[in-house]
Amino acid sequence: MLETSQNAKHKQDAAWSCFLDLLEYKADLHGTHVEKVEPEGTTKECVVCGVKTVNLLWVRKHSCPACGNQDDRDLNAAKNILNEDSIT
Ligand SMILES: [Zn+2]
Repeated sequence: MLETSQNAKHKQDAAWSCFLDLLEYKADLHGTHVEKVEPEGTTKECVVCGVKTVNLLWVRKHSCPACGNQDDRDLNAAKNILNEDSIT
């Protein structure tokens, strides 16, 4: 549906905005908050040593050539986001 609609981008933006509103509502309800982060590069940077590697999208495993750290790609990204200084 999104690929064929002329307003696909607007529909997708509206859906994402609605999701974020619901997420913030639920966070408030449970006494926490939502932080928006810039995800660019979080899957490429090794959470242990900081070396950036280039992985193809379908490679789901992070494997650092510098320190040997191996982790799930998404878990490595989540740890990088968690370690960002801007997260409170
Ligand atoms: Zn590493």
